[in-house]
Amino acid sequence: MSSYQVKVTEKIVRGEDSKLKVIIVGAGLGGLGAAIAILLAGHDVEVLESASEIGEIGAGIQILPNSSYLLQTWGMREALDKYSTNPKRVNMLSWKGDIISSLDTVESAGKYPGTFYWDFHRANLHQCLLDRAVELGAKVQVNSRVVDVKIEGDRATAVMADGREMEADLVVGADGINSRLREVMLGREDPPTPTGDLAYRLLLSTKDMMNDPELAQFIKNPQVNYWIGPDQHCVNYVLRGGELFNMVLLVPDDMPAGASTLAGNVEEMRALFKDWDPRIQKLLSMCESVYKWRLCYRLGMDNWSHPSAAFTMMGDAVHATLPYLASGAGMSLEDAAVLGECLARITSKSRASKKLALDVYEKCRKDRTRMVVERGNLQQYLYHLHDGPEQEERDRKMRMVPTPPGEALAWRDPELSPKLLGYRHIEDVDRNWPADVKLVEPKL
Ligand SMILES: Cc1cc2nc3c(=O)[nH]c(=O)nc-3n(C[C@H](O)[C@H](O)[C@H](O)COP(=O)(O)OP(=O)(O)OC[C@H]3O[C@@H](n4cnc5c(N)ncnc54)[C@H](O)[C@@H]3O)c2cc1C
Repeated sequence: MSSYQVKVTEKIVRGEDSKLKVIIVGAGLGGLGAAIAILLAGHDVEVLESASEIGEIGAGIQILPNSSYLLQTWGMREALDKYSTNPKRVNMLSWKGDIISSLDTVESAGKYPGTFYWDFHRANLHQCLLDRAVELGAKVQVNSRVVDVKIEGDRATAVMADGREMEADLVVGADGINSRLREVMLGREDPPTPTGDLAYRLLLSTKDMMNDPELAQFIKNPQVNYWIGPDQHCVNYVLRGGELFNMVLLVPDDMPAGASTLAGNVEEMRALFKDWDPRIQKLLSMCESVYKWRLCYRLGMDNWSHPSAAFTMMGDAVHATLPYLASGAGMSLEDAAVLGECLARITSKSRASKKLALDVYEKCRKDRTRMVVERGNLQQYLYHLHDGPEQEERDRKMRMVPTPPGEALAWRDPELSPKLLGYRHIEDVDRNWPADVKLVEPKL
């Protein structure tokens, strides 16, 4: 394992003349990441969350090298190490269970010093982000559903469902895929686009799996496995160092119009995979209840920020993606890091300063997040091919050494992977920050 230490960002200490009051709407992974990054930039942050409790649903999440890098810049390595599992390989299997190709994750992360492939229980990652945000000074309020944002000059006011109002120099909409703030910004309804797929998400206790030698292998040797096949696929990996087993089934969407989450039928779910690798059936037989999520996407927004420079957007609210590149949260965390880095460079609270920061933020993020959403859609096509010439060509490309651009094991794709996994937010901001504008000299 690499001994390279990622440099932790130091908190800027500012005078009142350049310290913004920032309201972040949504305490999801992206919103909490933004809280951390903006606090490190020396500003004040209040987070408004609609739920009555701060938390994440019980399921797994894969964190790729680009995100593991920036989480470390936020000083979270030690806290996260307690909960992370480091998978050794990512395996692509046919739907019948034959291995097509594998990625050595240690070798892959080794190309980006100090980074890892990490798997987490979402609740743990979320709690670590919350702890760090609070440690840095975030104030987090639950039961605070924001329904409107009023703009006056270069200030914004978040209006909550219960009538409370809170004013700020900047409101950041991080309210997820079914974003209210996106619609406020656009001044019209704008629902996300269904992808045609839904996800069953399961968490299994590994105790039962250890009694079956075939299933015990999944635990003893932590790997990420993708079974890909006609119209659907299945992903699984170990969490909390072997305590839990996360499984996601991605299948054609059969949910009624308007629904986004529903209780699923376990028998129906098993039937969808009845002819697949028998190990999947064994795993599914251990599941007693399940929920299903409709998967939607958003390609982006023409303008991520309001002309007043008092209101901007980030995360799934702007660019929700199919989870087939395991990069949705990664993009939200990157948005957060870039926004923080841009706000770290402003020297005053003026509209011009905020506008500069928000313009550079959008410039850094727009094309990149669109690239990820589009690639997620391509992965859907590649993963779900029926047996035949196209599937054979897909598998042939995955077996080539080296593999060609556009191959289905995207994290190894020679064109995509350096861009996706080797992202460095500070370098991106450096590239896009106008040369004639001097950087902030923080007041110490
Ligand atoms: C099945 C599945 C698997 C996935 N796997 C991965 C993976 O392995 N790796 C990865 O990087 N990504 C993955 N993702 C994507 C990832 O979960 C999302 O991209 C990420 O959680 C988005 O973060 P966010 O903060 O933008 O939005 P969210 O996490 O949705 O947070 C939004 C927050 O805003 C709150 N909120 C909503 N409306 C309001 C309002 N009006 N006022 C106040 N608060 C409000 C919500 O309660 C919530 O807390 C997966 C997604 C799915 C569906």
